[in-house]
Amino acid sequence: MIVELSQVRDLMLVNQEHPISWNPQSLVLVGGRVLMDERAASALNKLMEELDGWRFITAVSGWRSQEEQHEIYIRSLWENGEEFTKQFVARPGHSEHQTGLAIDLGLTQPDIDFLRPYFPYEGICQTFRERAAAYGFIERYPAGKEAVTGIAHEPWHFRYVGVPHAEIIVEHGWTLEEYHKHQKPFSLEVPT
Ligand SMILES: [Zn+2]
Repeated sequence: MIVELSQVRDLMLVNQEHPISWNPQSLVLVGGRVLMDERAASALNKLMEELDGWRFITAVSGWRSQEEQHEIYIRSLWENGEEFTKQFVARPGHSEHQTGLAIDLGLTQPDIDFLRPYFPYEGICQTFRERAAAYGFIERYPAGKEAVTGIAHEPWHFRYVGVPHAEIIVEHGWTLEEYHKHQKPFSLEVPT
């Protein structure tokens, strides 16, 4: 069956131009700290199991309600100013965190920055990054793609898009925006 990418829930595009249109149906606790879409959480747990990742990595921020996103946005404007906030915090209704398919991860350490957790390109964090696509996750806001995503480079923000989409996106060096542009419509077995 031929489907448009926009019809596939896991591929939902949420950015400055596209507000969230579907709400997550079943949220579960992940990393003992945050809520996430059930299927995304299950994939993340499998990846973490392979790496023994939860020993070293903290789930910093997962699903956010409209109210929480609003609160985070307003607080960041107040504390960090408009320029910072525009780069790192999406407007309410436009945050991937509201889909339940996104998660911010930080290397576990005494002080974790809530908006910009430390998730370096080395050690366990880099191993996570390299294995992520096999489990359906992409680094959503890479360096050099700021003009495409509308968000600054965020090494800590991962988005579940499912398999094989994540692998195709990574293989081509695309963002989710670019995947939507290149790949529609396409053929897919849609679970009913
Ligand atoms: Zn994030």
